[in-house]
Amino acid sequence: MQITTNNDEQTKNLGKRVGEKLTGREILALVGPLGAGKTTFVQGLAEGLGIKNRITSPTFIIMRKYKIKLKSQNSNVKTTTKNLKLMNFYHVDLYRLEQNLEQEIKNLGLDEIWGKRENIMAIEWADKISRFLPDNTQWIKFNVTDDEKHLIELPEELT
Ligand code: ADP
Ligand code: MG
Repeated sequence: MQITTNNDEQTKNLGKRVGEKLTGREILALVGPLGAGKTTFVQGLAEGLGIKNRITSPTFIIMRKYKIKLKSQNSNVKTTTKNLKLMNFYHVDLYRLEQNLEQEIKNLGLDEIWGKRENIMAIEWADKISRFLPDNTQWIKFNVTDDEKHLIELPEELT
């Protein structure tokens, strides 16, 4: 499904709606050129996950972890008294990484994090590591047209 957004607020709102749908274990792979709106989308995503912190681009530290509490839809997971799942949201930005990506994945511990029920991950520039990503990775493509429209293509199940 392809969506056009006219300003960052609309991109954030789309991210927020997607964030509200996530339940755990999702890996969102965000691809597209610099300035296309990936980080803006993640800001909305974080809001949808209930994160109050301001989300900045993790470009210089590659990965940031945020603790989140989601309404439990599954009784098998650790819950608080309010029946909230304790989970983690990881915001990863691979922009600066060029070499030894397989090794970088190990160094960052990404392969230990993804796929776990209690983790949700959004990875900017995920195309750099596409061949290492798990099969359940959901791809979101960002683009800017010549007339400055921001296009976002995402799988039906996220809309
Ligand atoms: P990326 O992470 O893909 O490099 P950012 O989200 O950091 O991109 O930056 C997108 C830039 O484009 C921001 O400065 C934002 O204000 C601007 N912008 C303008 N229109 C939009 C839109 N429709 N969606 C997202 N960002 C937009
Ligand atoms: Mg970015």
